[in-house]
Amino acid sequence: MSWVADSRKLSASAVDFIDEAYLEALLNRRADPAEVREVLAKSLSKEPLSVEETAVLLAADEPEMVEEIFEAARRLKRDVYGNRIVLFAPLYVGNECTNDCQYCAFRRSNREQIRRTLDADELRQQVEALLRVGHKRLILVFGEHARYDPPFIADCVRRVYSVRVQRAAIRRVNLNAAPLDHEGYAAVKAAGIGTYQIFQETYHHPTYARVHPARTRKSDYLWRLDGVARAIEAGCDDVGIGALFGLYDWRFEVLGLVSHALHLQRHYRVGPHTISFPRLRPASGVRLEDTYRVSDDDFKRLIAILRLAVPYTGLILTAREPGPLRREVMAFGVSQIDAGSRIELGGYTEAGDTQCIQREQFELGDIRSLDEVMRELAADGYIPSFCTACYRLGRTGEHFMEFAIPGFIQNFCTPNALTTLMEYLVDYASRETYEACQRRIEAELERMPESPRKRELIARLRRIQETDARDMHF
Ligand code: SAM
Ligand code: SF4
Repeated sequence: MSWVADSRKLSASAVDFIDEAYLEALLNRRADPAEVREVLAKSLSKEPLSVEETAVLLAADEPEMVEEIFEAARRLKRDVYGNRIVLFAPLYVGNECTNDCQYCAFRRSNREQIRRTLDADELRQQVEALLRVGHKRLILVFGEHARYDPPFIADCVRRVYSVRVQRAAIRRVNLNAAPLDHEGYAAVKAAGIGTYQIFQETYHHPTYARVHPARTRKSDYLWRLDGVARAIEAGCDDVGIGALFGLYDWRFEVLGLVSHALHLQRHYRVGPHTISFPRLRPASGVRLEDTYRVSDDDFKRLIAILRLAVPYTGLILTAREPGPLRREVMAFGVSQIDAGSRIELGGYTEAGDTQCIQREQFELGDIRSLDEVMRELAADGYIPSFCTACYRLGRTGEHFMEFAIPGFIQNFCTPNALTTLMEYLVDYASRETYEACQRRIEAELERMPESPRKRELIARLRRIQETDARDMHF
């Protein structure tokens, strides 16, 4: 099957804004410590960085300079966003795929992969299993296939929202699926999705062409690059972008992500809601090349630099990464992680304690339970949160508000994080996790100045402990 994008269906802002020669030239510059400090000061004064300024940070590889960048990212995260970490789980719905992406186990030429699409019953069982351990936010993941058209995806989203385990329900369903046309996005938006995520994989055209064979849908670079702009035009106000790190020079991909965020900001006055930065993982039938492998040290740099460059955007760190590394890089500005994740089709009820690579898209680095991850977060001084308040109250652009509205975090984000955490403790937590998180709640309350909001928060926390009252948000 050949695929030619219909140019009439591109967005009004559609243009290939990635100028490779220009970005490569920026990356060939040398780092000047004075310039690096100037850029860090700009970032700490809460201003987004330009592509050129981001390149200044990328050029800084002397250990002292790198440490200054890390420290600035930690400060920005701590002073601006506070210490909440939002938790979610991925739910793979189907791994049929007509593309042939060289890095992915779902690619059509991979005969080792066991193909499967969850039926309505199986989908319900997966959601029930996730609800039973306390999840409230999911991302549904699909291959790109005619079966997974917008009505099918919308139907899955509605089914997920309709599942109940006692009183618990999923409160936010995000999507990671193929780019759609305007009508397609409108259909899935009508089903009540949160964020629509599309990763460009690589912004480097020759690499993009190499890993996405011609005559597959995904080989159309501009159709994909323009995907989230069409989503915004069709009414999806929260979109997520990402790059798959390890396909090409990580520094180039960071400039690609920043260019993409600035393009959206310029044309739609809203940047991406989230940026994801998955690193390539082993996958069934995939031979990983080492040329552009991103080391742990460079991975830390890229997270810190993204934090500083796009301050209004949430950063998602996935369970592709091993637990100890996740723990270490959290402080650089990560705002969301998945936990208790299984990515085999049907994995939440069928997988047990080991991974089956023939049934999943790639191998995960961290398959600890949600409970265990929550305990570690609390012990490390973070507030694990399941908050969905902004989205459900129609307060879109929440990261911007957190950042730009004085007192927003103290008045909304922290109280909502603490009530959703208390719900988790009362309804799902193990004794150890209950104790660790309870200590965190007490420490947070201690730090809060007396106010009517604090008194109301304490009353709500008590109500959650003593009654069936749930899902109260500020
Ligand atoms: N099929 C849709 C698409 O390609 O946009 C949905 C995305 S796919 C199921 C989710 C993401 O996983 C991809 O966008 C890619 O970035 C990432 N991915 C694919 N293979 C991977 C691998 N071997 N290691 C890590 N991440 C991988
Ligand atoms: Fe299909 Fe997405 Fe995997 Fe590519 S990355 S083979 S489009 S599932």
